Amino acid sequence: MSFTLPTLDYSYDALEPNIDAKTMEIHHSKHHAGYTNKLNDAIKGTEFENKSIEQILMSPNIPDSIRNNGGGYFNHCLFWDNLCPQTISPSNQFMKIIDQNFGSFDNMKKEFENAASTRFGSGWAWLCSKNSNLSICSTSNQDNPLMDGQCGGVPIMGLDVWEHAYYLKYQNKRPDYINAFWNIVNWKNVETRYQASL
Ligand code: MN
Repeated sequence: MSFTLPTLDYSYDALEPNIDAKTMEIHHSKHHAGYTNKLNDAIKGTEFENKSIEQILMSPNIPDSIRNNGGGYFNHCLFWDNLCPQTISPSNQFMKIIDQNFGSFDNMKKEFENAASTRFGSGWAWLCSKNSNLSICSTSNQDNPLMDGQCGGVPIMGLDVWEHAYYLKYQNKRPDYINAFWNIVNWKNVETRYQASL
C-alpha cells in the first residue's frame, strides 16, 4: 500500500487574497508531494507498510523519517480539508459546543491564535476533540496530537505555521496570516471531523 497526494477541492488561487496562489502551488505540489513520496519510501519493507496513517502516527517509537514525513503527509491532508474559498460558518449546534468549551467563539479564536503565534519555529496549531470536549494545542515540526507525548486528542482543525505556508505573502508577519485564516475555514468539515471522533 502507498499513500497518494490528495487533489484539492479548490484551485490554487481560490484562497486569494488570504493565501496566495504561488504559496498554495508550492505548498501542495512540492512540500506535500515531498512528504508523501518520502513517507512511501520510508515505510517500504517495514512493519508500517500496511498500516493506516493514523495507526502509523499513533505507534510508539516511530523512526524519525516516518514520524516527520508521516506527520507531514497527514497534517497537510487535514489542512487542505479544513480550508475553503469562503468561510463556511459553524452550525448552531457546533457553535453551542464551542461556547460550552471556551465560553465564546471569540475566546476559542484567541486561544487558537495564541497557540499559533507562540509556537517557536516551525509547527502547527490544533483544535482537538478529546472525550467529546474541544481543546487547543500546538506541536513542533510535523508532529501532531495523535503522536506519543502529545495531547492525545483527535485533531479536527489545524493551521500550518511553517514559514513555507505564508512567507511569500506575509514574510515575518505570522499574526496577519493567522488572522486571514479565519476567512477561509471550512467549519462544516471541522464539525464532520468532530462528529467522527465521538
Ligand atoms: Mn506545510
